[in-house]
Amino acid sequence: MKLLSLQERLGLVSYRNQAKSEIKPHITVETDICNSTCPHKCTTYVCPANCYTMDDQGKVHFQVEDCIECGTCMYACDQGAVSWEFPDPEIGRGVTWNYG
Ligand code: SF4
Ligand code: SF4
Repeated sequence: MKLLSLQERLGLVSYRNQAKSEIKPHITVETDICNSTCPHKCTTYVCPANCYTMDDQGKVHFQVEDCIECGTCMYACDQGAVSWEFPDPEIGRGVTWNYG
């Protein structure tokens, strides 16, 4: 059996409400903190889905769309920038672990 790479595995993840544009994300990130007082920007290194990225100017960006709800950033961020709130599954977006 072929072992899949992490990228291949992440590509197999499916999401609830994937096509909806008005979804409520379960994570919000105050990127003002990332781009002002955060000394290490560690979430740009530890997120397995690359939801946190740093551009050429060193500015941190966050996009929730590929999040696999691993919880790493919730513990990694020691600057108070990451907030989690799981919304109603019918209006929110999240990994379909039971089916995907
Ligand atoms: S550790 Fe927290 S404050 Fe720093 S870049 Fe990551 S999310 Fe932003
Ligand atoms: S929960 Fe995991 S996958 Fe989602 S943004 Fe945080 S570190 Fe990335």
